[in-house]
Amino acid sequence: MNKPPKVLIVDDEPAILKAMQINLLQRGCEVLLATDGEEAVQMALKEKPDLILMDVVLPTIDGMEACHRIKSQSTGFIPVILVTVQNELKNKIAGMNHGADDYLTKPFVFEELNTRVAAMLRIKRAYDDQQTASITDALTGIYNRRYLQPRLKEECDRSLRYGQPFACLMLDLDHFKNINDKYGHPFGDEVLKQFAARLREHIRRADIFVRYGGEEFVLILPETDINEAKRVAENLRDVVQSKKFVAGAQSAAVTCSTGICIFPSAAATTFDSLLKRVDEALYEAKKSGRNCVRIAA
Ligand SMILES: [Mg+2]
Repeated sequence: MNKPPKVLIVDDEPAILKAMQINLLQRGCEVLLATDGEEAVQMALKEKPDLILMDVVLPTIDGMEACHRIKSQSTGFIPVILVTVQNELKNKIAGMNHGADDYLTKPFVFEELNTRVAAMLRIKRAYDDQQTASITDALTGIYNRRYLQPRLKEECDRSLRYGQPFACLMLDLDHFKNINDKYGHPFGDEVLKQFAARLREHIRRADIFVRYGGEEFVLILPETDINEAKRVAENLRDVVQSKKFVAGAQSAAVTCSTGICIFPSAAATTFDSLLKRVDEALYEAKKSGRNCVRIAA
C-alpha cells in the first residue's frame, strides 16, 4: 500500500495557506505548513516532504533563497513548485535557476495547481522507485552491496559519537557451489531467496540485512554487544540448518558459517578495518569446519 504523499505548503498569508491545505487534504495528501523561509528550510530537511509548494515573498528569507538552500542541502530529490504573484518572465527564470522544478503564478485556479501537483508527484514517485531499486538485491529483495557502504559508515559514526557499540555479522552459505553444481542454478537461486526470507523472519526491524556477494550476506545489529550477537548468530545458524530447503521436487540441507565483529572494539577501531575483520572471522569459521560462528580476534 502506498503512503499518502507528504506536501509542505509555505505561505505567509493565512487565508491562502488554509485554502491550499484544505484542497490537498481533500486529495488525500498529508500536509505540513510553514509561514516563513527559514522555517520552510528546517521543516523540509527534517521531514523530507514529497513536494513543496512555496510562496516567493516571505519573511526571514524569501522563497527563492529557501528553495536554493533546500536543493543544495537535502540528500534526496524534493520537488519544489514556486507559487507566487511575481508573474514576469524574469521572475520565472530566476525561480527555476534557484532550483525550482515548476512555477505557478497567483492568482491560480485550483484545477491547474492540482494538475501540476499530480504531475510532480508522478516524477517524485518514479525517482523514489528508482532509488529503492538501486539499493535492493533483485533476487532476495533485501539490501544490496551499494546500500551497505554508506550505511555502515553512518553506523560507525553514530556508534563512535554515542559510545554505543553495534555488531557486524558476515554469513556465508557452506559449499554453495556444490548446490549449484548438483541441483542447478535455478535451485541455487531459490535457496538464496529462501535463506534471506528465513533470516528476515528472525531479525529485528532495526537490523540491516544485506546481500554482500553471491552467497555472502552482511547483517548489522545496532546497539548489540558480543554476547547478544553470538546468541543471534547461533539462533540463525539453527534456523538455517533445522529445515531443508525445498523447491519443486528438489530439496537440500544447507548450513552457513558466520563471522562476527563488534564495532568499536579491539578488533576494529575504524570503519575501514571492520569489514576486513569480520571477513577474517568468517574465514576462521570456514577453517573450523563450517556451520559455526567465530568472533574477530
Ligand atoms: Mg507571501
